Amino acid sequence: MIAGAGIAGLTAALAFARHGFGVRVYERSPVLEEVGAGLQLSPNATRILDRLGVLDLVSASAVRPEAVVLRDAAKLAERARVPLGAAAEQRWKAPYLVAHRADLQSAMLARATESPLIEIATGATVGAVEALADCVRVSVTQDGIDSHIEAALFVAADGVWSASRRLVGPKEKSKFSGELAWRTTLSADSDVGRQFAVLTSPATVTTFLHPRFHLVAYPIRAGAAINLVAFTPGNSIAEQWSGETDTGALKRAMGGTAPALSKLIDEAGPWTVWPLHTVDQSRPWTSPSGIALIGDAAHAMTPFAAQGAAMAIEDAYTLADAIAEATSTAEALARWETSRKPRVLKVARRGALNHFAWHAAGPVALARNLFLKLKSPESLAADMDWLYGWTPPGWLDEDRL
Ligand SMILES: Cc1cc2nc3c(=O)[nH]c(=O)nc-3n(C[C@H](O)[C@H](O)[C@H](O)COP(=O)(O)OP(=O)(O)OC[C@H]3O[C@@H](n4cnc5c(N)ncnc54)[C@H](O)[C@@H]3O)c2cc1C
Repeated sequence: MIAGAGIAGLTAALAFARHGFGVRVYERSPVLEEVGAGLQLSPNATRILDRLGVLDLVSASAVRPEAVVLRDAAKLAERARVPLGAAAEQRWKAPYLVAHRADLQSAMLARATESPLIEIATGATVGAVEALADCVRVSVTQDGIDSHIEAALFVAADGVWSASRRLVGPKEKSKFSGELAWRTTLSADSDVGRQFAVLTSPATVTTFLHPRFHLVAYPIRAGAAINLVAFTPGNSIAEQWSGETDTGALKRAMGGTAPALSKLIDEAGPWTVWPLHTVDQSRPWTSPSGIALIGDAAHAMTPFAAQGAAMAIEDAYTLADAIAEATSTAEALARWETSRKPRVLKVARRGALNHFAWHAAGPVALARNLFLKLKSPESLAADMDWLYGWTPPGWLDEDRL
């Protein structure tokens, strides 16, 4: 039984059904809404999506960007370029994609509804969870009616505000990171979309670097739209994407930005804003009684390595493999948690390093620029092999795309 039909929950449903398990997914929202906008999907995630039959569906609307580009927000000068496109596919044996989150979710949902082993209930909120001798008893409220479901395994994929987190240990509250994410979408075929194309190639993932903010831009919806996400320091706000008419904090962060980029940010919009929360990486993710947390419920991290959804996909796939291979659920959960944690921690640290480097000022920024200038695109790509070249345990080389 799975709580949450986000990326973690839907991947888990497909991964467990692949092993022949019957799966029930309970999602609190009445409809699977379009929350958030773009997602970068790196090869470590897309090779799993391929195995689950989702890659071909999502590829129709996703874009294969040419490169990841780092640009100075003040001078708009290019500081680094990591080739993607065919080069990424050759190097990491799976594509690097950028997609609308809703497109990925609908592709997953389409595959899940094809499976006779998966049932998905929406408008169904998971409440109390109780460990019995040989199963987990979960209460679900749907249309005001409470029911109890017994399952061999309860997978909590209920996101960063997870209520299930308390089931596996103390300090269950996520923590505000001090950063806000601002996002909007531009139509490529609009005045502001055309202005954007003058600043950088819309076929790339471009990050504009600045000591007080960074802005990430990439195409979605087969190139018809550009996803913009800016990150600034800010105060804790409501725990959801909220419409924000006052973009003051974003504007205040932008002193010294190239006028063309400032103008773009002024004219783009409306912006919505999201408070970035993280979960203590040392917390447990599982309970031997048959409970596992995956995705943001287990380890929400800042999105500066663009890996939260990728980690959710990796978690879900490897958890299903671990359970399918084991004779004891408790043992499988413990082994899975021990094997996943070092990777997730390393990814979270990579995000923190990116944030430090992208927001560098003064001499540190000069040193960063010199360092990047001395690195070839090939060696910048090689630095990502541990992350993008990863395959689930037990995969052979020929299992890659
Ligand atoms: C600005 C930003 C940019 C990002 N960019 C990237 C990126 O480029 N690449 C990347 O890999 N990651 C990225 N991420 C991270 C990524 O979005 C998350 O890590 C990922 O969506 C987490 O998925 P999830 O399924 O764990 O959680 P969610 O998507 O939050 O899903 C949780 C689901 O559980 C449901 N739920 C909650 N409580 C209950 C309950 N009691 N009962 C039933 N259902 C419940 C919710 O309604 C929701 O549908 C980004 C994040 C942000 C904020």
